[in-house]
Amino acid sequence: MSKIQWTLDNLDCAHCASKIEDKIQKIEDIEKATVNFMTKTLTLTFKEDKNLDKIEEQIKDIVQKLEPHVIVKKKIGKTHCKTLSKQISCCSGHHHEHHIHDHCDCHHEHHEEHGHDQCDVPHDHHEEHRHSHEDGDTKKTILKLLLGGVIFSIGLMGEFKGNVELGIFLGAYIIVGGEVIVRALKNIMRGQVFDENFLMTIATFGAFATREFPEGVAVMLFYQVGELFQSIAVNKSRKSITSLMDIRPDFANVKRNGELIKVSPEEVLVNEMIVVKPGEKVPLDGVIAQGKSMVDTSALTGESMPRHVEEGETVLSGFINQRGVICIKVSKEFGESTVSKILELVENASSRKAKAENFITKFAKYYTPAVVIIAAMLAIIPPIFIEGATVVEWLYRASIFLVISCPCALVISIPLGFFGGIGTASKYGILIKGSNYLEALNNVETVIFDKTGTLTQGIFHVTQIDATNGFHKDEVLKYAAYAESYSNHPIAVSIIKEYKDEIYKDKINDYEEISGYGIVVSVEGKKILVGNNKLMDHKKIKFKEIDCVGTILYIAIDEVYAGSIVIEDTLKEDAIEGIQALKDHQVRNIVMLTGDNKKIANKVANELKVHEVYAELLPHEKVEKLENIDHQKTCGRNIVFVGDGINDAPVLARADIGIAMGGLGSDAAIEAADVVIMTDEPSKIATAIKISKRTKRIVIQNIIFALGVKALVLGLGAFGIATMWEAVFADVGVSVIAILNSMRILKFKK
Ligand code: ADP
Ligand code: MG
Repeated sequence: MSKIQWTLDNLDCAHCASKIEDKIQKIEDIEKATVNFMTKTLTLTFKEDKNLDKIEEQIKDIVQKLEPHVIVKKKIGKTHCKTLSKQISCCSGHHHEHHIHDHCDCHHEHHEEHGHDQCDVPHDHHEEHRHSHEDGDTKKTILKLLLGGVIFSIGLMGEFKGNVELGIFLGAYIIVGGEVIVRALKNIMRGQVFDENFLMTIATFGAFATREFPEGVAVMLFYQVGELFQSIAVNKSRKSITSLMDIRPDFANVKRNGELIKVSPEEVLVNEMIVVKPGEKVPLDGVIAQGKSMVDTSALTGESMPRHVEEGETVLSGFINQRGVICIKVSKEFGESTVSKILELVENASSRKAKAENFITKFAKYYTPAVVIIAAMLAIIPPIFIEGATVVEWLYRASIFLVISCPCALVISIPLGFFGGIGTASKYGILIKGSNYLEALNNVETVIFDKTGTLTQGIFHVTQIDATNGFHKDEVLKYAAYAESYSNHPIAVSIIKEYKDEIYKDKINDYEEISGYGIVVSVEGKKILVGNNKLMDHKKIKFKEIDCVGTILYIAIDEVYAGSIVIEDTLKEDAIEGIQALKDHQVRNIVMLTGDNKKIANKVANELKVHEVYAELLPHEKVEKLENIDHQKTCGRNIVFVGDGINDAPVLARADIGIAMGGLGSDAAIEAADVVIMTDEPSKIATAIKISKRTKRIVIQNIIFALGVKALVLGLGAFGIATMWEAVFADVGVSVIAILNSMRILKFKK
């Protein structure tokens, strides 16, 4: 299976987006096609060996038919100036219909793309240029509508008669709605009959035909104003959501041949030196080679307190340098750096659709044809069968139906709501990999936590070392440290830190880490075992169990028990409140699973007040426990597993929602989980649930509101009570309100 992405430039109609998706999905050989209206991307998965050129041609064909002004392009990721010039030509070609969308978007990408090139145009200039251009287009539309409005008012007040009256209103009508008519004609030529433009044209022509000139103009005016508001609202929201996620660095200052040059982050190689000045974004992951500073990590973590960093420490792309100049040795190329990973993840998030979104897409598919059919029946049947019913009257009622036949309000506002929810979560350092997960978080019954590194800090302190059988305490610690030196388990990291001497890795052979048991290794030719009581039992070592509360490591050297190390971990600062917050959000069952011993597990469980605790579990037993809990869950509710990504990937994958903690710097966690908490705070799980609930509430409000108003106006229209005015409101007015409502999610505060 492979995956490609295309950009659909100028995509400005959500309903069309789903039509395009539907058609592309039907192309042979395509496994799955998703169009993301928000990011304007088309994502395809298909079998490896397929003929790409043919597929691309088919896609372009489909798009050309449905939305001729949309431009299909290979997704730009790592190309440079060439794409830039293409972008410019796209932006200067004033051949599009929805000016506001087109221009803004071209410039937006243009501006984004700017970061990837070497053409040194100052940044601000772009911003300015973009805004003035876009404002200009909006202004043009507003002026046109104003002019039309003024002529319309003159017509209303002047009480003109006959052809003069017709002339004035017709003039106003053409100024206001001319482009609608042109679009309708163009679409008909392409075989797309029942689109909004056509329906508005018919409806308003109808008004003119019955000599209701003012109504014809007014309805068109109202419709156009609604469309204008709608596109402004969609654009604003797209922008504010994408700016939430705007963590892409624009350039890197790299040291080459003793000189400092400005290049695109993609051009920097691993092990090169980059310099980051105060106020600049760290462009690539690396280790500080020189200098110290405070960095603002909030773009990645949502944490507002700046963090102190100095020589030898790792910094991640996306941090903002606040004070000193730092020199960084790059450790990962741009594509592998944290920023790229996160961006990719968030950009792809809306291709995993929520149930509510799928419902709306399905609904839209049947809704429009159904309304159009009813409209046709309304126009034909009553005049034939009902005495005194005039064709004109029923045509009018039918055209009301046609105006309401677009499900736009829902098709735009629902994905926007989820996208906004995902964006808001990312502001808090919570990365959600799909709208489906955001929706699922709304209905959590059980949260299962891993202990070490998830609820506890995973930073152990040695509290006691015992040695026996002629070994010395120092030897016990030394061999433990040597054994642990290849492991990245929190226990290992802590032991190595406790052992202050240097570790000569060339003395270590045959290293084997057994998840949930410990480590088997040969050091200086001696066979070393370091692990828990299970490891000792398993390897048949005679040992004395230590009776104390703490995590206990037993050490055996050449099959002889040498001693033990007791280590202790502390709870994370917000663990207790984090668990309380979950209980406050209707999470019925909170469970802790751990591979550690019972005593320490119970102690931690008591402090945290979790409902159930299971200790001494091997990784596969954790999966079994989860499955047990899963069998008992209420149908339709979800189980969340929260781990730190170290040896709990199988459980993360098996849970309804796998949440990984401490995503910063841990690739494994980012890969395995459905939701990644960038900071180490358990309380963020409750925050994620809160955002999910808020999002869901907004989505439901929109569904009820939009469907309610539409149903009401359809009903009133059929009985001749509602006029074209209400119909246009039920169409664009409802859209605007629903979009604005969706944007409320961005105002979320913890
Ligand atoms: P948790 O479920 O608390 O996250 P793990 O499943 O990671 O714990 O580990 C369970 C137990 O296995 C640990 O408490 C420890 O006794 C043992 N263990 C795992 N990895 C190591 C290691 N690298 N060194 C020593 N002991 C280990
Ligand atoms: Mg663990």
